[in-house]
Order: sequence, then structure tokens, then C-alpha cells
Amino acid sequence: MDRVSEDLLWGVNPDLARRVRNMAATLSARGIEIKVSSGKRSTERQAALYANRANNPYPVARPGTSKHEQGLAVDVVPTGARTSRASVIIGEEGEREGLRWGGRFTKRDPVHFELLDGGGDDLVLDGSKVISQAKEQATGVRVLAVLGIAALVIRVLRS
Ligand SMILES: [Zn+2]
Repeated sequence: MDRVSEDLLWGVNPDLARRVRNMAATLSARGIEIKVSSGKRSTERQAALYANRANNPYPVARPGTSKHEQGLAVDVVPTGARTSRASVIIGEEGEREGLRWGGRFTKRDPVHFELLDGGGDDLVLDGSKVISQAKEQATGVRVLAVLGIAALVIRVLRS
């Protein structure tokens, strides 16, 4: 990938960057070169894009709600012709790398790739993941409490 792409990847989540580099290598072997056209965005930048969304061929999220603002999304385009065939090949390669592809969104965004909730190796926890872990821990404590009571009842019955 070109220098601009590498600079953009330095600004995003390292796990996302790693997956996009893997995509680029695999696609290059298949004769498709890609570049990163957008990485992490400030909320000001997202607001500017949102204000100008009528002129954008792709959907633009409201400022404060874009994964780009968290460094968890990139936009990827082929360096050659932006055919729908190239878009699908790139999208499916991103999915093989474990990324969520915007080409499947209701408002199709075929250039967009983002980490699934919770990220990957580097574990960027989002709120829902933290809540589900807290629930699991609470369930574990409850199971231990029930087992403790059962053991106590058995001991009382035996005495
Ligand atoms: Zn995007």
C-alpha cells in the first residue's frame, strides 16, 4: 500500500491496521491493489463530512456515532477502477479477515470496514461487551452461592 495508506493505518486501532495489511497482501497476490482513503477522523472532521453528506456517494454517520472517530474503521478503495466486482472481492476479503464490511449494511457503504464489537487481539472493549462480562461474573457468583447452600444443607442433613 502507498505511503498515505500507511500513514492512515498508523492512526487506527492496531488490530484493524493488521487486518487491513493482510487484506492488501492477499488481494495484491490476486492482482487487486488497494489503498486506504479514510482512517481515524476527529469529531470536527466527521461533522464537516456530515454537513456535506449530500455530495458524498457513501452514507455518512452523524458526528459522535462513527466508528471512524474511535479509530475502529477505515475506508478502502481499489487503486484501479472502482468496479462493483472489485468492490465485492475486496469486501469478501475483508470479511475473511474478520472485519465487518459496509457492503452488507442496509445503507450500503462498500468502501467501509470496521472491527467487530470488542475488537480482536488488542481487545477494544465497548460498553456492551463490558456489560456481558459483568453479567457472566454475576452468574458465576450466583452458581457458587447455590453450591455453597447445597453443601451446607447436605452437612446439616447428615449431622
Ligand atoms: Zn467508513
